[in-house]
Amino acid sequence: MIAGIGGGKALDTAKAVAHTLGLPVAIVPTIASTDAPTSALSVIYSPEGAFKRYLILPHNPSVVLVDTGVIARAPVRFLVAGMGDALSTWFEAEDCRIKRGTNMTGRLGPMTAYALARLCYDTLLQYGVLAKAACAQQVVTPALEHIVEANTLLSGLGFESGGLAAAHAIHNGLTVLHETHAYWHGEKVAIGTLALLMLADR
Ligand SMILES: [Zn+2]
Repeated sequence: MIAGIGGGKALDTAKAVAHTLGLPVAIVPTIASTDAPTSALSVIYSPEGAFKRYLILPHNPSVVLVDTGVIARAPVRFLVAGMGDALSTWFEAEDCRIKRGTNMTGRLGPMTAYALARLCYDTLLQYGVLAKAACAQQVVTPALEHIVEANTLLSGLGFESGGLAAAHAIHNGLTVLHETHAYWHGEKVAIGTLALLMLADR
């Protein structure tokens, strides 16, 4: 078994290596900064950090193990970036649903995925500020646990089964620009979400 421990790039690397070797993969996120942990895909970047392609994997990880005590002791900026990534999930899934766009498997999303994406959004609005305060104090609270669940599980299932739209496409474009390399995935996705809302006049 391959065990991936760390953030999004480490986890995506572990998933891709396990797939290449034909081994099961256990995913242990130490930050809740993206929805990479649960998904059956790895994002492939160029050595310069620009988005290249999605590597679609045949299976989701065998195990996803998150210790919120570890997440609480990580810098709060990671948690906030994860909320930025998760905030896009419902808007993108909703765009796919309305336009009959496909999810990451190339099929129309099920009702379940849209409901999970909506729960992700509602959880962020209800618990996001409390979770940020808890993480800044390095304590595990119910709000922090809800946000970790939203950032990883709900956002992961929501985007994979609901589909991606403009927010992640704009993020992928931003990764080409050297000036954006100091910013994390969820921070660039948040800019993409604002652009999506502007484009759709919402
Ligand atoms: Zn993302």
